[in-house]
Amino acid sequence: MLILFFINVFLSSVFSNQMSNSNTSVQSLIRLLREELKGLYDTHEIESFIFYTFEFHLGYSQTDLLLKKEVQIPEQQLIKMNDVLRRLKQEEPMQYILGEAWFCGLKLKVTPDVLIPRPETEELVEWIIDDISHSNLKLRLLDIGTGSGCIAIALKKRLPNVEVWAMDVSNSALELAKQNAALNKVDVNFIQGDILNSSANFINQSALFDCVVSNPPYVLQSEKQTMKTNVLEHEPHVALFVNDWDPLLFYKAIINYSSRNLSRNGKLFFEVNEAKALEVSSLLQNNNFAAIEIKKDLSGKERMIKGAWQL
Ligand code: GLN
Repeated sequence: MLILFFINVFLSSVFSNQMSNSNTSVQSLIRLLREELKGLYDTHEIESFIFYTFEFHLGYSQTDLLLKKEVQIPEQQLIKMNDVLRRLKQEEPMQYILGEAWFCGLKLKVTPDVLIPRPETEELVEWIIDDISHSNLKLRLLDIGTGSGCIAIALKKRLPNVEVWAMDVSNSALELAKQNAALNKVDVNFIQGDILNSSANFINQSALFDCVVSNPPYVLQSEKQTMKTNVLEHEPHVALFVNDWDPLLFYKAIINYSSRNLSRNGKLFFEVNEAKALEVSSLLQNNNFAAIEIKKDLSGKERMIKGAWQL
């Protein structure tokens, strides 16, 4: 009997990874999460991870977190929450762990096949809406390198009269983007295509676009040293990086495509590397774009550019 008891104690201490799978209260799990994540993330981040974990797995609100401290967490949820902790300790982004992210007030599915939508990209969407929402015409818009579909879906949601197209080179990204459009009940035309393949005519239509938008890969390989593990080791490099010797590769290709497919006075919007805004602006100028504007994001970085096609 005594031996069995010791075996039991031994096994549960091996398998529980510091967390007993029974009789764990909300309070003790919160304490454990704080302890285990300390040093790896700042306090503010840890508190938001705690909230998201409880919200996702137990449906808790902020108030529940305060009022239900003594509640025992059911074993099934505890196992899942323990797994969230394990993955956070490996610096996996929370959005990939939970499989969802918020963008412009919309919930989107995310997987490591796509970038996690960024707040600065929300600013780009707002800028586009401000710019094109006054038009009475039935506009056609194309998002190049759509990833999770965030830009295209948010624009369609806010401007339902615009005909929205979105393309990506990655089939798995497109599959996810289609699911996101369905989840958010918007109609977006998705197409597979490689913008770097200049001979590809990925939209088999002669109609022009009134607006092209893109957040292409713009992080330099040499910037890798300054990046956080959660981005560098978990987000798709194909969506992030360009070679230092040709940092504007995607911008050149998109400008080239736009010069053939934008209507007169059609708009081109870009998200850019903060260090390359001026170069992208001259590129636009040298390619018959006018009314070029650079816009800073909320952290004061030159993050967005627009121009109007003149021919
Ligand atoms: N803004 C993203 C980052 O900081 C990069 C997005 C992109 O390359 N288009 O990681």
